[in-house]
Amino acid sequence: MSRWAHRDRHGICRICGIEGKLSFEHVPPEAAFNDRPLVMAGMRDLIGRDPDQPRGRTQQRGAGDYTLCERCNSRTGHWYGSAYVEWARQALMIVGAARGCATLYYGYRIHPLRVLKQVICMFFSANGARRQPDLVRFVLDPERRGLHPDIQVFAFLTNGNRARQCGVSGILNFDRGQAVILSEVTFPPFGFVLCLDSPAPDPRLIDITFFAKFGYGEARDVFLRLTVLPVHSHYPGDYRSREDILNCVRRASAGDANPLLTRTDVPAASPEPR
Ligand SMILES: [Zn+2]
Repeated sequence: MSRWAHRDRHGICRICGIEGKLSFEHVPPEAAFNDRPLVMAGMRDLIGRDPDQPRGRTQQRGAGDYTLCERCNSRTGHWYGSAYVEWARQALMIVGAARGCATLYYGYRIHPLRVLKQVICMFFSANGARRQPDLVRFVLDPERRGLHPDIQVFAFLTNGNRARQCGVSGILNFDRGQAVILSEVTFPPFGFVLCLDSPAPDPRLIDITFFAKFGYGEARDVFLRLTVLPVHSHYPGDYRSREDILNCVRRASAGDANPLLTRTDVPAASPEPR
């Protein structure tokens, strides 16, 4: 182990905020199909590059980083990890059976509160030192229900080979006159978006904030119509297909302004009233 690698393993836990030795937190949990090598690329590796030819470093143990103290890592993993893994297994079967085009409501037998708390833990790992006190209490008390009304969590399915983690970011959608403050954690078969006092970046995302209303011990049949969306670019909230992105690039060549940041091609789930 190098001197620098050792130094990197000390820092501030992204959940409890206590400084000390950090442990490796898999995001998502290792048993949720996150146990294989992958290429980790930062924004500097991606901006201005062809999304089909990313560069970065290979991480052998799966997606994650040294973000949590051993106590938070162990406790939250014990409380919530297996519930998330069980949901991921069910979702993977549905995506496979639907050949990547799930469009119906499917029932999932899950522990909704445990799943949501695991998802929030994943957002802590993705979000540096930006700790929200309400969310800290939410994940460090297994029985605690409910989220602050400004916080909403959305979900979708994805079946590609790409993952994406983005800390708190902002999107200005000029077409809809909306500003969206969001964070995203995507790793097949799921993608999750946490929005702060703003709407979902895409109407196809499904709100799962209601998972917070259940009890820690409650297992429920939850029926959700989770859309399968592509994740190709490195921008949070961007669910354009590879073909859509290439079309934007062609339009850029023809003179359109800033096409990579334009997502007017995203269709609405239902027509908006006028
Ligand atoms: Zn901690």
